[in-house]
Amino acid sequence: MSESTTTFSALGLPESIVSALTEVGYETPSPIQAACIPLLLSGHDLLGQAQTGTGKTAAFALPLLARLKSDAANPQVLVLAPTRELAIQVAEAFQKYAHHLPGFHVLPLYGGQSMVVQLRQLKRQPQVIVGTPGRIMDHIERGSLNLDGIAALVLDEADEMLRMGFIDDVEWILQHTPAGRQTALFSATMPEPIRRVAQRYLREPQEVKIRAATSTVATIRQRYCQVQGPMKLEVLTRVLEGEEDFEAAIIFVRTKTASVELTEKLEARGYAASALNGDMQQAMRERVIEQLKNGQLDIVVATDVAARGIDVPRISHVINYDIPYDTEAYVHRIGRTGRAGRQGTAILLVAPREMRMLKTIERATRQPIEPVVLPTREMVTERRIAQFRNQIMAAIREGSLDFFFDVVRGIETSEGISAREIAAALTFLAQRERPLQPEARDWAELPTPAPERPARANREQILTRRREVASGRLARYRLAVGRQDGVTPKDIVGALANEGGIDVSQIGQIHLFDVFSTVELPAGLDGETLSALGGLRVRSKSLRMRPYHEDGDSGFRPPRGAEGTTPRPPRDSDAPKRARRGSDDDAPRPRRWKTGSA
Ligand code: AMP
Repeated sequence: MSESTTTFSALGLPESIVSALTEVGYETPSPIQAACIPLLLSGHDLLGQAQTGTGKTAAFALPLLARLKSDAANPQVLVLAPTRELAIQVAEAFQKYAHHLPGFHVLPLYGGQSMVVQLRQLKRQPQVIVGTPGRIMDHIERGSLNLDGIAALVLDEADEMLRMGFIDDVEWILQHTPAGRQTALFSATMPEPIRRVAQRYLREPQEVKIRAATSTVATIRQRYCQVQGPMKLEVLTRVLEGEEDFEAAIIFVRTKTASVELTEKLEARGYAASALNGDMQQAMRERVIEQLKNGQLDIVVATDVAARGIDVPRISHVINYDIPYDTEAYVHRIGRTGRAGRQGTAILLVAPREMRMLKTIERATRQPIEPVVLPTREMVTERRIAQFRNQIMAAIREGSLDFFFDVVRGIETSEGISAREIAAALTFLAQRERPLQPEARDWAELPTPAPERPARANREQILTRRREVASGRLARYRLAVGRQDGVTPKDIVGALANEGGIDVSQIGQIHLFDVFSTVELPAGLDGETLSALGGLRVRSKSLRMRPYHEDGDSGFRPPRGAEGTTPRPPRDSDAPKRARRGSDDDAPRPRRWKTGSA
């Protein structure tokens, strides 16, 4: 499937949309896009099994944009998403793809944001609404969101909505949209309740499933590194420095633009790198591959299409800088290493929310993917010194240093200094561009999110967290909700992670007091973040978050260990409905009864 070479135009998308895709650098449709776009364009309902990273957003956004009517005043497309973060991301994707559609507006609607602002934005007549279920219900109930014109409804990450306790709300919304609408449901898994929703609300849906290929890749050692977007480049260069058997690498990115940009950044850091993408002429591509073969280049930053079939035994590493769409693409990518009987290494950079894909790949390749241990500053220094020593020894082996002996001897005599002093000075000069010891100020502290946190923190994790607090990396913040409001640590984690977009690995200890509570989060959160998080609601009360000062705030210390809990992500069995309810709703909602099928 990942070998498909269809184009976006061939799938039936109009030129106005195809040109926007060219601008964002998409070369070819991903497998899920190739399958879904024609179906949605022709008006079918759709049941898609695919997870984040497969390109599913564009798979529904592109055809639905193509079907928009230009003369309608009310919203025509409604997308329901489980979290505020996803709602914003999907809305941004629509905006990007609709760059050449005049007068296009998309509006994300989620809890925690001011109603007044949302009501004002609704007046701009957005064609597409992307929202979290609770807030969409609020608007429907207030009459501020007219659904009469909804021609298409998308349920994105339906299993997540189920897991977060939204499924009744989703059904309620489905029942309030026109019965003649087109409906698409996307879900990474298809648990029974989701199947039931599909059976009840979708009409003769076409099913699309992104098949997980199984294969064994015996000569390739697979590893991964969890990283948040902004730190990716830093992590990549550190990964490259930490690899002992590094010879040459192919780094995979998703877009042509990314291949050029990342190449430039690597070149600026002293790597012999080149881009390899579908925009380049065939002759140029061949030259790049030739240079990689003969060692003139060490790194090629490629898109999937351009890297197809590359066979260069020197490639010791395949780095998935952007996660591939599916396991098939992954297996295809990593097959560029471990060739001609050699051992190869595949490293995947993965965002916390893409961790599911990692599990799928492990299952498909029937091999564990181990975490990468990033080198410390000391390790990098040692490695650079070792490389430098090798260079010196190679120069000595090559011989013909007579002239240089004379130069050194001349300096020794004329300056009255030792050969050791001269050697130290030369070493200093030789490393000025790329210091043997990385400058402390260039050595950014990387958050090292635990790959998977067990349900209860073990002693070591608690100690690490204490150290993080002591070193100022985590700080304690005060929340205006406490035990008297009936909150639990789980509620707080639910609100911060699901609605506030905070990664669970960044949430430390939570302490509950009667009228307030404290939570550990990264130190130095700015005012904007504080007010955004402070606007979240738990148990119908606003969090009103602010830095916590132990003396001034409470007059007493939190009980040792008593109420402290290291949180974990909510799981199915937790049914953290309460956290969601409180945070997505603006006010307690009257009880609702089902009103029958749409
Ligand atoms: P999604 O699975 O929708 O979350 O998409 C994951 C990422 O893939 C997003 O960053 C998209 O911009 C990117 N993407 C989606 N489709 C394509 C494509 N056809 N070519 C390149 N990148 C894509």
